[in-house]
Amino acid sequence: MSGIVEGKVALVTGSASGIGRAAAQIFAREGARVVVSDVNDAGGAETVEMIKGNGDDATYVHCDTSNAGQVEAMVKMAVETYGSLDCAFNNAGIGDPTASLVDCTEEDFDRFYQINMKGVWLCMKYQIKHMLTQGGGAIVNTASIAGLIAAPNLGAYGAAKHGVVGLTKTGAIECATKNIRVNAVCPGVVRTPMVQTLFDERPDMEQRMIKYQPVHRLGVPEEIGEAAVWLCSDAASFVTGHAMPVDGGIMAV
Ligand code: NAD
Repeated sequence: MSGIVEGKVALVTGSASGIGRAAAQIFAREGARVVVSDVNDAGGAETVEMIKGNGDDATYVHCDTSNAGQVEAMVKMAVETYGSLDCAFNNAGIGDPTASLVDCTEEDFDRFYQINMKGVWLCMKYQIKHMLTQGGGAIVNTASIAGLIAAPNLGAYGAAKHGVVGLTKTGAIECATKNIRVNAVCPGVVRTPMVQTLFDERPDMEQRMIKYQPVHRLGVPEEIGEAAVWLCSDAASFVTGHAMPVDGGIMAV
C-alpha cells in the first residue's frame, strides 16, 4: 500500500529530537524522501540512521533556522539532492527559559523571537520562493496552544508562537491560488526533551500538567508528527490557513 506522501520530498527542521524526529520518521514511513535538518548534528545523523535502518531515504543538512543564509542553503540543498521540495515542516524551536513578563530578560525575549518566529518566516520565505517556481507544495509550521491562548510565564514563547499562527495565515492567503497550502500544528504538552528540561527544573510541574489535561496524560511526539504529515499530504487538499490544536482536548475546555 502506498503512503500518503508517496514520492514526495519532505524537509523537517528541528528533526534531531522530539516532534521533528518523529515527524521525519512518519514522512519516511508514508513514502517521502526526507531532508533532516537541525543545529544538533549528532542527533540529526541519528534520525537519518533510524530512517535508513527502515530501508527509507533521508539526508542531513545543518541549519540554524534563525540564519537567513543557512536557511536559503538548506532549501537549495534539499532541491539539489532530491529534485524538488514538496512538503516542509518548520518545527525547530526552543522552550526554555520560562519567566513572567517582568522577569523575562531582553536577551531571552530576542532569542525566542529569532528562533521561534523569525526562523519560521525565513523557512517559509525560501520554501515558498521555490514552491512558486515548482508550481505547488505544502508547508506546516509548529506553533503551540501557547500561540492560541495565554500561558503564564511563557510570554516571550507565546508571543513568538502567536506570530507563527499569523505567518501561517498570511502565507496561506498569499499562496491560496498558487497550489501552495500553509497550515500550523498547535501541540499541547508533549513528552519531548524540551518539556523534560522544564520538568527537571520544576519537579512538581509534571503531575500538575498531567492533571490539567482532559485526557489525563501528556502527548507523544508521534501524535503531532501524524497530524503534520497529514496536513502536508494531498488528503488535506482543502485545508489551508488552519492552526490545528493537537492537544488532548485542552483547547476545548
Ligand atoms: P526538542 O527540544 O525535542 O526539539 C527541538 C529541536 O529543535 C532540537 O533538535 C533542537 O536542536 C532544534 N533547534 C533548536 N533551535 C534551533 C535552530 N535555531 N535551528 C535549527 N534547529 C533548532 O523539542 P520539541 O518539543 O520536539 O519541540 C519541537 C517544536 O514543538 C518546537 O517548535 C516547540 O516550540 C514546539 N512545541 C512543543 C511542545 C511540547 O510540549 N513539547 C508544545 C508546543 C509546541
